[in-house]
Amino acid sequence: MAPNKSKKHQSQDSGWIDISVPLKSGMARWPGDPEIRITRINDMDRGDDDNLTHISMCAHTGTHMDAPLHFRKSGKPIDKMPLSAAIGKARVIEIRDKEFITVDEIRPYRIRIGERILFKTKNSNKRWDNKAFMKKFVHLSTEAALYLSERKVQTIGIDYLSIGGYDGNVIEVHNIILKAGIWVIEGLNLSRIVPGDYELNCLPIKLSGADGAPCRALIRKV
Ligand SMILES: [Zn+2]
Repeated sequence: MAPNKSKKHQSQDSGWIDISVPLKSGMARWPGDPEIRITRINDMDRGDDDNLTHISMCAHTGTHMDAPLHFRKSGKPIDKMPLSAAIGKARVIEIRDKEFITVDEIRPYRIRIGERILFKTKNSNKRWDNKAFMKKFVHLSTEAALYLSERKVQTIGIDYLSIGGYDGNVIEVHNIILKAGIWVIEGLNLSRIVPGDYELNCLPIKLSGADGAPCRALIRKV
């Protein structure tokens, strides 16, 4: 019998599911951030000896992590992140509210100290289809940011470009979360993910002294 290709593929990947978004020239970005450009500067189709790509992008493009340095002058840079912030058990919590992640909605989950929490919101299904930046997206309420900082979670993830809202509390929420020493993953796509317990692996690239860095985010069921 011929081997089942999809099964073989699955076992090679050991159950890991990619929850990062593909990086592409011109993809949605935070207003004011430089546009991402991915250019093939050598191209074998044009007779060059090799294919060679040049990348120009903001450290906060697509799926990425924020370091405390992003909003704290003396905060840790991304290359000083403890690896445990990006590797280990994580919980995917589904948020039904169309505007905010609220304390009322997350309280029943009894979030504990040291947890890694990924919020699956309405953003995952709707926001990434659009090439342009969407100003309205589900984000943390200021009260929820305070609640998570009191809970002393280790890492939080969200499925669009910011944990705070564009027209409102973006600075406030980042200040609260990053001051509390919580590491942040932004730009996830959780549309295929059923809420529950997972193992997370989303190491950011080792950008020396930087306030954030792109990462490839993977989860698998535990
Ligand atoms: Zn960021």
